[in-house]
Amino acid sequence: MRTDSEFTRILSWPGYRVYRLEIDEKAKTLKLWIRRKRGNRKIECSGCGRKFTEVAEVRERAVRDLPWGEFQTTVFIEIYRVKCPQCGVKREKVLQLPTKAPFSNRLEDAVGLACESAAARQVARQFFLSASTVRRIDLRYLERWDAGRRQPALRQMGVDEIHLGKQQRFLTVVCNLETGEPLWFGRERKKETLDEFFRTELSARQRRGIEAACVDMWEPYRLSLAQRAPNCRIVYDKFHIMQHANDAVDEVRRAEFFRKGGRMRGLVKGKSWLLLSRWVHLDTGKKRQLNKLFALNRRVMKAHLLKETLDRLWSYHYEGAMLRYLQNWIDQLRWQRLEPLRKLALMLLDHLDGILNYCRTKVPLGVVEAVNGNIKSLLRRGRGYQNLRYLLLKAQRMAVTNTEFVVLRKAA
Ligand SMILES: [Zn+2]
Repeated sequence: MRTDSEFTRILSWPGYRVYRLEIDEKAKTLKLWIRRKRGNRKIECSGCGRKFTEVAEVRERAVRDLPWGEFQTTVFIEIYRVKCPQCGVKREKVLQLPTKAPFSNRLEDAVGLACESAAARQVARQFFLSASTVRRIDLRYLERWDAGRRQPALRQMGVDEIHLGKQQRFLTVVCNLETGEPLWFGRERKKETLDEFFRTELSARQRRGIEAACVDMWEPYRLSLAQRAPNCRIVYDKFHIMQHANDAVDEVRRAEFFRKGGRMRGLVKGKSWLLLSRWVHLDTGKKRQLNKLFALNRRVMKAHLLKETLDRLWSYHYEGAMLRYLQNWIDQLRWQRLEPLRKLALMLLDHLDGILNYCRTKVPLGVVEAVNGNIKSLLRRGRGYQNLRYLLLKAQRMAVTNTEFVVLRKAA
């Protein structure tokens, strides 16, 4: 029939033709029944790829396809099963059907693509699917993408932890500093956690190929790296050290104001973020507020200034100069009675070698921070990330598409 051949052309599933259709204008649904075109006799086992001419049985399957205009489309396809000497009775391979799931490949691709820039719930509405189905499709889409790409060698790695809350506690995040991509997630932040990464993800040769790691001054990670990556230099990076500095300033502020209670407490309430932001990023009004705070308490001001000046440590590229700057910085703490900062200084001295390694091994600054930020924004945006594999693939895809975006912008 003429109509069927036109529907066949619009559907355009190579090798298949529409032989029956149903249009429900009220429900806005379109149903298409398809089977192989006469010449299409290439039957392939979906398990091993062996070719067959004999068919063991024929079954019909309903598959959701891309919507046609406002119509939800379901394709009823005849699928053959073959008697394979290797796999037994097995379904034939159909290009448009990547898995057993009742969705066409191109619908899954469209859903996956939409999920890159919208929440699962919005995508669900757009494609007439449930949000949980959209997440499952998105996961398969990402798995297919991941299977089809090559992983670059790991030479510089970052290790960071993300606090997930009181119940799930910590997530250890390993990333590739050169590509800016997260590589692996592990529960907790023990030595065994990082050990597991080295054991399950890398060969002995790959572990020897790691030349540098940016990590927090956290002993379990250091121990794991020392043991499993023999040629790796540990670099205690700016991002992690400045996190400790921020914590120290916060502690001074709390000691100076909050513990005193009453009127003082009211004055600084809600201003802690001011102390944590960098001075250059504040506008005049905010700077005035901060100055007011400093006038009330010199010690808070001093702590804030010390944090600001520590930031400059990473502007030095020569070991000697960096060391001198750090010594001068620590000297300023004398007579100040700023206990949290004194503790920070001791911590820095304990990890001096790893801090100075920044001058010996060039590692990109800010990558660990960016990866961490991306993961946190994913966690904030969506539910359904109890599945760590999904979260990881999502963050990887995000890193890769961002990279492409940056490259495009540079070209323009
Ligand atoms: Zn087979």
